[in-house]
Amino acid sequence: MTAQHVLSSQALPGSATAADLADLHVRLQSGGIELIVGTVVDMAGVIRAKAVPAQRVESFHRPGLGASPTLNAFCLDGVGIAHTPAIGVTGDLRLRLETGSITPIGDRIAWAPAEFFDQQGTPDPGCARGRLREMVAAVSADGLEVLIGSELEFVLTGPAGERLTTGTWQPYGAAPALAHSPFLTDLVRTFASAGLPVEQVHAEYGPDQYEISLPPAAPLAAADQVVLARVLLGRIAGRHGVGVSFSPVPFVGSAGNGAHLHLSLRRDGQPLLSDGTGPHGLQPDGAAALAGIVNGLPEFIAVVAGAPLSGTRLGPGTWAGAYACWGLENREAGVRLCAATPGNPYGANIEVKCVDPAANPYLAVASILGLALAGIASSAALPEEVAVDPSSIPGDPIPRFPHDPVQAAELLETSALAQQILGPRIVQSLLAVRRWEIAAYADLPVEELSAALRMVWSG
Ligand code: GLU
Ligand code: MG
Repeated sequence: MTAQHVLSSQALPGSATAADLADLHVRLQSGGIELIVGTVVDMAGVIRAKAVPAQRVESFHRPGLGASPTLNAFCLDGVGIAHTPAIGVTGDLRLRLETGSITPIGDRIAWAPAEFFDQQGTPDPGCARGRLREMVAAVSADGLEVLIGSELEFVLTGPAGERLTTGTWQPYGAAPALAHSPFLTDLVRTFASAGLPVEQVHAEYGPDQYEISLPPAAPLAAADQVVLARVLLGRIAGRHGVGVSFSPVPFVGSAGNGAHLHLSLRRDGQPLLSDGTGPHGLQPDGAAALAGIVNGLPEFIAVVAGAPLSGTRLGPGTWAGAYACWGLENREAGVRLCAATPGNPYGANIEVKCVDPAANPYLAVASILGLALAGIASSAALPEEVAVDPSSIPGDPIPRFPHDPVQAAELLETSALAQQILGPRIVQSLLAVRRWEIAAYADLPVEELSAALRMVWSG
């Protein structure tokens, strides 16, 4: 089976024709695929999966596999469940596989994203991927083209999550860039053969920390790519006898892991973030989209950087984008505008730096895209640019994003925009999970919390 169909499909899971499925069977068989794994990402940012023998791929696609509604409300300790009025011990949902995105991942296994449906075949309003898919359909109908690029930082650990390198580690160093070369060559090879070529990989600030950049893609495909990347990284790490941490703070005192998102917008083929007369060439709708993101992000921090350690990462001086402001190429601003220059092959884009890898990627992309669209719809006025390090401004006038999970949850709870963008069901279950985390981890010293959660987003 080749990877040529990878992540190109935004079809409704369950909608493949008999001919599509017959073709799929042939491809699975000729590719020697024996096992199909379908994933969803829960509110805590953990990837969950169900699997079938390849011959049973149709049943995973339609009617789907039975799944408890609680699959969306599992908690980080692997035991707790954050029940809500809609998510209890009764009832059943169906997990449907998106067969258009089936991707071979080695060892005779293929992966694809899945979505929640009810027993009648109606999309479940609590499904993160389903929400993003609906949003993307509305955007295309409006003539807008959106591309999302993802960066993903991670730290290699020992097999049980312990530190690997104890000596010198130079950020962007040539020696660190090659320090784990068998892992790195396996990484580029495995990603390429899954049809997801990495754009670049470099050694980051923290010991054994690397970053990969994924190619820009349509929003749903971009979120799928992040899930696939995390699955592949876990498998590659396993082959090399190491672990991979996606925790926002893998080791206290070392650099955190970010998962910055880049967004670009076009209408009728014309970029909205360049060639205009606004600041740095922004078109009116591009400026309004940027404004929508900057103004609305504080209400969405519980979504994009709301895990128990996310607030610890979100500090000044770490390039994590701790401040609720924007600036051209400003690495301390939560939102960094990357202008169209000859050095920027993808053209102008908006980088949202505060996102971390513990966020559900479907909800993170839906939040940023939804805020951009809300900004355009209301012709939001662009706040003043912050062109310096915000912490250097006397009197500290630039607000920071909430880094207390209680405050972040309150902002989400009272956000009309969150209800509109994510829908009441998702906001309700996300808040239930965040409040479970607040209660469970509030009294734990950060070192213990970092150790306890180091590998929970790894699988
Ligand atoms: N590690 C930083 C973060 O937590 C990002 C560093 C960078 O700009 O690449 O987001
Ligand atoms: Mg980085």
